[in-house]
Amino acid sequence: MVLKAQRAPLELVEVADPKPGSGQILVRVRACGVCRTDLHVADGELREPKLPLILGHEIVGLTEDGRRVGIPWLGWTCGECAYCRAGRENLCDRARFTGYHLDGGYAEMAVADERYCFPLPDRYSDVEAAPLLCAGLIGHRCLRMTGDARRLGIYGFGAAAHLVAQVAKHEGRAVYAFTSPGDVEAQRFALELGAVWAGSSLQKPPDELDAAIIFAPVGALVPLALKALAKGGTVVCGGIHMSDVPSFAYDLLWGERVVRSVANLTRRDAEEFLALAARIPLRTRVTPHPLAQANQVLAELRAGRIVGAAALQP
Ligand SMILES: [Zn+2]
Ligand SMILES: [Zn+2]
Repeated sequence: MVLKAQRAPLELVEVADPKPGSGQILVRVRACGVCRTDLHVADGELREPKLPLILGHEIVGLTEDGRRVGIPWLGWTCGECAYCRAGRENLCDRARFTGYHLDGGYAEMAVADERYCFPLPDRYSDVEAAPLLCAGLIGHRCLRMTGDARRLGIYGFGAAAHLVAQVAKHEGRAVYAFTSPGDVEAQRFALELGAVWAGSSLQKPPDELDAAIIFAPVGALVPLALKALAKGGTVVCGGIHMSDVPSFAYDLLWGERVVRSVANLTRRDAEEFLALAARIPLRTRVTPHPLAQANQVLAELRAGRIVGAAALQP
């Protein structure tokens, strides 16, 4: 499924099998998760993608010699810039991302730099493992940025939230889930996964929060989340794109409250999180769809109609 121009539907076309370059592996795609970032690329909110482009950065693939690997968003880093040398390769000036600068997994075959691929825990099927590769990894990085926050708000209860909530509960934290007003199904799902409270993002939670993670791409949630925080609390913005954050009174930030973003992932995040996912274990809720339905699945994600995560299978 090929993106030929932004803001145009993907097209089902036959392309030549990708040829692995030096250091790359060729995989047969078993499943590829659908992530909100794919929408931001397709809809033109992320600029200058490779075109034509194959989207998809939650790739579960089989190598020619039968190894199952996961291919995430971080596809390549320079290893030389100040960020890379400081162990912050997620901020690399020249980083290249799967399904954005590099062809991704909305396809039958994919190639990837082997140094950025990971073995996946056996207990997850191909479809179940797909959302671990971005929703899980980015969620994990976001959760780490909240420190030891005990009362944790999550704004936007989609693919990433449904995994973070389980990890947070496993760590003894209390999860408060915020959804779009009236999204009763997502609220019920959050409670099923162990949230202590679920409601609309316009509601005030019953307790002050020590931290909040915002996964919804809605800047107006930043002041709302700040309002729900106790002093010293942190708001972590986990998405790659967000609408503008409205201005707000300094009072909301006062009391050593913090607003920060989380960008991309490091390979260390992936190793840590996949080990954790093997141990806990997480229950991933993933609806599989045939690859040719990619446009419909993206439309459902845009409309907020996916509960949990979705994946495509060739
Ligand atoms: Zn670098
Ligand atoms: Zn993603």
